[in-house]
Amino acid sequence: MPINDKPRRPRPNPLSIIFLLLPVGLLILNLVFTFGNGPRVAKVPYSFFIKQVQDEQVARVSVGQNLIRYQLKDSESEQGQVQETTPIFDLELPKLLETKGVEFAATPPPQNSWFTTLLSWVIPPLIFVAIFQFFSRGGIGGGGPQGALSVTKNKAKVYVEGQDEKITFDDVAGVEESKAELQEIVEFLQSPKRFTDIGAKIPKGVLLVGPPGTGKTLMAKAVAGEAGVSFFSISGSEFVELFVGTGAARVRDLFEQAKKKAPCIIFIDELDAIGKSRAGGNGFVGGNDEREQTLNQLLTEMDGFSAGDATVIVLAATNRPEILDPALLRPGRFDRQVLVDRPDLSGRLAILEIYAKKVKLGENVDLKAMATRTPGFAGADLANLVNEAALLAARRGSKVVETEDLAEAIERVVAGLEKKSRVLNDKEKKIVAYHEVGHALVGAKMTGTEQVEKISIVPRGMAALGYTLQVPTEDRFLLNEAELRGQIATLLGGRAAEEVIFGSITTGASNDLQRATDLAEQMVTSYGMSEVLGPLAYDKGQQNNFLGGGMNARRIVSNETAKAIDKEVKDIVETAHQQALSILKENKPLLEVIAEQLLDSEVIEGDHLRELLAKVHLSEAVNELVAI
Ligand code: ADP
Ligand code: MG
Ligand code: ZN
Repeated sequence: MPINDKPRRPRPNPLSIIFLLLPVGLLILNLVFTFGNGPRVAKVPYSFFIKQVQDEQVARVSVGQNLIRYQLKDSESEQGQVQETTPIFDLELPKLLETKGVEFAATPPPQNSWFTTLLSWVIPPLIFVAIFQFFSRGGIGGGGPQGALSVTKNKAKVYVEGQDEKITFDDVAGVEESKAELQEIVEFLQSPKRFTDIGAKIPKGVLLVGPPGTGKTLMAKAVAGEAGVSFFSISGSEFVELFVGTGAARVRDLFEQAKKKAPCIIFIDELDAIGKSRAGGNGFVGGNDEREQTLNQLLTEMDGFSAGDATVIVLAATNRPEILDPALLRPGRFDRQVLVDRPDLSGRLAILEIYAKKVKLGENVDLKAMATRTPGFAGADLANLVNEAALLAARRGSKVVETEDLAEAIERVVAGLEKKSRVLNDKEKKIVAYHEVGHALVGAKMTGTEQVEKISIVPRGMAALGYTLQVPTEDRFLLNEAELRGQIATLLGGRAAEEVIFGSITTGASNDLQRATDLAEQMVTSYGMSEVLGPLAYDKGQQNNFLGGGMNARRIVSNETAKAIDKEVKDIVETAHQQALSILKENKPLLEVIAEQLLDSEVIEGDHLRELLAKVHLSEAVNELVAI
């Protein structure tokens, strides 16, 4: 049974606008009643009244606290004219009236009707309630922009089955294993009884883990689409807002709504925004009360509903599973994790095919070749790529998307938009040309490096002045030591070319050096490829961080070991440097020929480039050095 004895917040009520108008209406009614009754009565000054009494024109008087009403004598009829005056404090009045023989009495104090009493007690609170509701709904109509005062309103977007465009597993490609795992969830949603009858518990939470843009959100929608159930989507960051307690209230509200629509899916994007480990650390300093409350409420809700009475499955997505609070991953919560990884070659081809159907594609476009050229692209990158290509084709005035558009789009996505306006001076251009050709020549001779497809000195993006595009012939998951060394040497090829030709080096190689050093360090500390240090892992192990970046923390090692590691890393990089230098020194004429051509054409690619690179020649001695 769902246990939830938390006080409920007042629900936003569509009647609140009526509450707001009610007092106004009543006020108008009241005014009508007050002024609308009886014939009009002449109002006279007090002195005039006294004079009339003294002149014996007054027949009878009714004395009230705030009003004296009196009737004049009338010679013709019984009913004399009635007049009114405002009394002043006058103790002599009764005596005067008596001496003049006027009939007089005091007006009884006004008797408040039960209705008036009720109004005066009920209306003010009603006004407050109405104002509160008005603001908590975020303004008239409730649909306007959500202000800071829209406190407890849930922001979950709801996709009701049958009303929105349906997304199915066919719309998601390249992540077949994840699909297979989620197929099970679809079955749970479609026929929960089949599982509960045997006594099996339906899982409550499934965590989709993977790098950004791999289709986690899309996948969650597809699960809902396949199962034909409603889909509540909210981002973790939307829970946490201005007021403490808001997030928790939203979580409560979300689950309440979802249970009404069961079976359904709640999808929490960016779970890490609320699900960060509570153990402190992670650089999170203070002020996380709100997040913590929200997280606690989420855990409570997940524990609270049992699969028996309503099939609500919570899907969540994160690209940083390692920082999630362990409490979230306990059984009964997000105990299932589905990895949604970057697609491999065939996956990329499948994704490209989906998006190629949405544009007009030229007849001889080879999508397979495009997929080969885009290793590391996530689904979102590929979708973007096809769109970019279509834009380029349209700008070209073409009716269909051709290979050249796709190729250009790949380069754009890879290296940022072409920055033709950024002009290098001639000296810089020359250095960049030699640097890039250096990479290409070394890459052509070292093992384990990818085929060089293109050299360009057209500046792109922010950092790269020129670039050497290497195309893998296949996706690689395992690299051996020789291949890693080859990659390091290739990275150092640019700098080595600068040394060989100009005898000096520029700042342009810093990124190359960074990457080369990282690789060398990983060889020693993670892959156990150093003979001196042996097959030990000196780092703390991969923390499964999809966003990459940052070396792993080192284990605590003795001073001597630390020194040995440093020496080993330096040796690897230095050896690679020497290899690069010797290859380039031996092929200095070729380096100059290709560099001059590159300066001319700015780009060398394809077969022409391969022909040039095939001419790289190595002597016995250098061949031996390179083949370490
Ligand atoms: P994530 O949530 O993992 O960051 P999204 O699901 O938001 O990624 O993906 C963004 C867009 O990229 C999707 O709307 C879709 O157009 C495209 N996309 C991403 N991955 C895939 C995929 N595997 N198959 C088809 N399209 C994809
Ligand atoms: Mg997403
Ligand atoms: Zn470089």
